[in-house]
Amino acid sequence: MSLLRRALLIAAAPLALAGPALAQSAYPNKPITLVVPAAAGGPTDTVARLIAESMTKTLGQTVVVENVGGAGGTIGMAKVARAAPDGYTIAVWHIAQATAPALYDGLKYDVVSDFDHLGRITDVPMTLVSKAGLPPKDIAEIVAWMKANQGKATYGHAGIGSASHLCMLILMKELGIKMEGVGYRGTGPAMNDLISGTFDVMCDQTTNTTGHIKDGRIKGYAVTTKAKVSSVPGLPTLDGGALPGFEVSAWHALWAPKGLPKDVTDRLVAALKVALKDPKVVERFAGLGTEPVAEAQVSPQALKSYLEAEVKRWDAVIKAAGVKASN
Ligand code: ASP
Repeated sequence: MSLLRRALLIAAAPLALAGPALAQSAYPNKPITLVVPAAAGGPTDTVARLIAESMTKTLGQTVVVENVGGAGGTIGMAKVARAAPDGYTIAVWHIAQATAPALYDGLKYDVVSDFDHLGRITDVPMTLVSKAGLPPKDIAEIVAWMKANQGKATYGHAGIGSASHLCMLILMKELGIKMEGVGYRGTGPAMNDLISGTFDVMCDQTTNTTGHIKDGRIKGYAVTTKAKVSSVPGLPTLDGGALPGFEVSAWHALWAPKGLPKDVTDRLVAALKVALKDPKVVERFAGLGTEPVAEAQVSPQALKSYLEAEVKRWDAVIKAAGVKASN
């Protein structure tokens, strides 16, 4: 080998090494785990999988959903809070992030300071539903039935402090009744048991109830938002009849452990924005009674402020209602 060629090879060696090394450090260079702190097949899982599919296309790496259900989502969110802040562990969760401090005793993380807040996703209405075999035909009849059967009647929920639990706690408080709760790792498995008639009633998101109401596998009575919901147009609002002022819905958002590098945050937020404009996501959301939040809400600052306001709001509501996760 000539002296000149050897000199050129030696000079080129660091460049050759730098190429792959630089490429490797570009985020993301391996699959991303998207924690869903509830069981597969439920409403959060549905939202998360739609987002994951779109983000996979944008980021060029697979976003893999990992279901870590239990204890109203606090097991999964504790796992995320402890994970490395490198963008390879993120989470889709919902309103329970804001209600957990007031409802759930012994939380092992701070819902605001232990997370990086990436952006809101959607705000999902909830529905009061029952197993198909229950006699009531409308909201007035189910309210009368729950009153008449308290002590015997049972409701399903996704664990202490979950959205389905919160909704039912408030509903029972407003009606002045008590029913027996049956806890699951998410309302995916709870829905299977409602369909097979293991318990009587549930309050869950339209993303989990719409299809089953339409197919007659369960009965729907009312929605929990102030406005009626297009995917279940026949259902009245609780606010407009049985329970004036009643309003609960399950907003969802994307979180990461505290301390993400800025470029990683930027990539994730940009990919989330793309997902919320993805025609497949928008169409599926619409069919399930929801829609992406406005783009201005899809930002770390907007989510952090929203979460802080929601923590305060729910702390007051939960204290005023005198409900506790153990109720
Ligand atoms: N819908 C559940 C809840 O009540 C969570 C889930 O299974 O997605 O919080």
